[in-house]
Amino acid sequence: MSEEVKTTAAAAPQGDRPARPQGDRPARPQGDRPARPQGDRPRRPQGDRAGGRFQRRRKFCKFCADTTIDIDHKDPDMLRSFITERYKILPSRVTGTCSKHQRFLTTAIKRARILALLAFTPLHHD
Ligand SMILES: [Zn+2]
Repeated sequence: MSEEVKTTAAAAPQGDRPARPQGDRPARPQGDRPARPQGDRPRRPQGDRAGGRFQRRRKFCKFCADTTIDIDHKDPDMLRSFITERYKILPSRVTGTCSKHQRFLTTAIKRARILALLAFTPLHHD
């Protein structure tokens, strides 16, 4: 006969969120490198609003996780998720692809470029 009243759900949210201290992240020095057009780096859009702590999702190799996916140079739509907007191949540290599959992926992307299924560069106009 335990009559313990749980008071866990009593914590009502106060206001919106606590005022976070200014200067959380240091302003990155401008002028050090030439201004490059946005969109060279994929993933992590700026709308993410990392106010301080957000849990980074664990990266995993997509091809190890799902063995039914083929790395095929004739499938540019699949390959497109592993290149940047400037058509550079994404490094495995960004995508989480393991080294074995990254090698296959690199070869497939290069083959697809030669077959003109993927572009070498977004600047190409003929
Ligand atoms: Zn893998």
